[in-house]
Amino acid sequence: MSGGARVAGGGGADAGRDILQLMTGLFPICRSITGDGLRETLSILKRDIPLEIREVPSGTRVFDWTVPKEWNIRDAYVLDPRGKKVIDFRRSNLHVVSYSIPVRKTMPLAELKGHLHSLPDHPDWIPYRTSYYREDWGFCLRHTDLLALEGGDYEVVIDASLAEGSLTYGELVLEGRTKDEILISAHACHPSLANDNLSGVGLATLLAGELAKAPRAFSYRFLFIPGTIGAITWLARNEKTAQRIKSGLVLAGLGDPGHLTYKNSRRGDAPIDRAAAHVLGQVSPPGRIVGFSPYGYDERQYCSPGFNLPVGRISRTPFGEYPEYHTSADDLEFISAASLGDSFEKILRILDVLEQDGTFLNLNPKGEPQLGKRGLYSKAGTEEMALLWVLNLSDGGHSLLDIAERSGLRFDSIKKAAGKLAEAGLLAEKAAGGTGR
Ligand code: ZN
Repeated sequence: MSGGARVAGGGGADAGRDILQLMTGLFPICRSITGDGLRETLSILKRDIPLEIREVPSGTRVFDWTVPKEWNIRDAYVLDPRGKKVIDFRRSNLHVVSYSIPVRKTMPLAELKGHLHSLPDHPDWIPYRTSYYREDWGFCLRHTDLLALEGGDYEVVIDASLAEGSLTYGELVLEGRTKDEILISAHACHPSLANDNLSGVGLATLLAGELAKAPRAFSYRFLFIPGTIGAITWLARNEKTAQRIKSGLVLAGLGDPGHLTYKNSRRGDAPIDRAAAHVLGQVSPPGRIVGFSPYGYDERQYCSPGFNLPVGRISRTPFGEYPEYHTSADDLEFISAASLGDSFEKILRILDVLEQDGTFLNLNPKGEPQLGKRGLYSKAGTEEMALLWVLNLSDGGHSLLDIAERSGLRFDSIKKAAGKLAEAGLLAEKAAGGTGR
């Protein structure tokens, strides 16, 4: 068993404010799956946590994929026939399709329109679009602005480079008492979007800082990576290390006003799946548990059949279920410190279950031991129930999480009861870390 519970008090309110503050600093940066925006983001995180920044050269084969050329952008705009800037990258980095090839050209409106993206259903939002693996270019704009464009010749400038370089990611390992690892993975490849990418990045950073404060049973590996290609690159370079991952969480979309949602790992019954279901089942209103599907964030890669790692995903409202997703409306107004803090606190509770679980033996299994004479009799019903459940099921075949699940009591109540019974000499630990090892 590890030391005291690390669960943050006050519903994670302080953490929520700190995460929001970090996100606010990162928000304006134009990130993509490679390039200086991603590097700058990681170097900002490095001020708070001792992140290792890795560079993998363009052209490196990673399983069925190839690390792409590096993309960097300096400026981009469109001038209308009167010379007025009608689209300006400097006003919003969402205006340029990510990975657009360099362009410097004059063209009629009809031709330009083939490269413009807007959202007729949300005419005041700018969509977020990418063109990673197909050389193309484009602009995204408010539908109202698109409708206002007049006929004539437009000057189009995308001052970008797509060249040999590298893919950057950040990695941090916090050593625990064992080499068994818990993976925390967040994608960091989106430009100015708050809930999608920055909430996970910010939360993972604060989580690393929090976990570093106390000794841990597990080692923790944090990855800040570009989505898909980053996870595939890490897996390709760390096939052996990946086998040490006993539990993992992909963090994505943790600041919106919705309630928590946990997506099961491909296995569906891994310790992380059980710990998340237990914690989210005990909160009010209860969180939602959804089954695995081979779509979504980087759980797709960690749960590919050649790895089948026990990695689930935690979000609030899942992507695609909120209209702000992948638009300029996913901004700092859309998220809140309260939601971020709540996510932070629940994730710590889930990790705490993995850290604190263990299996015990009742040393007085014939008839109930007399609790009163040991000062264990409690007037609080749930406290007594926790003592009785732990005594009854501690036959060496049930872990504390098993007992919490079966009793319907909170894991931390069960854990506390086990501690009291062990102190009174009624319980002995059989194996530490029954969950996940
Ligand atoms: Zn996204």
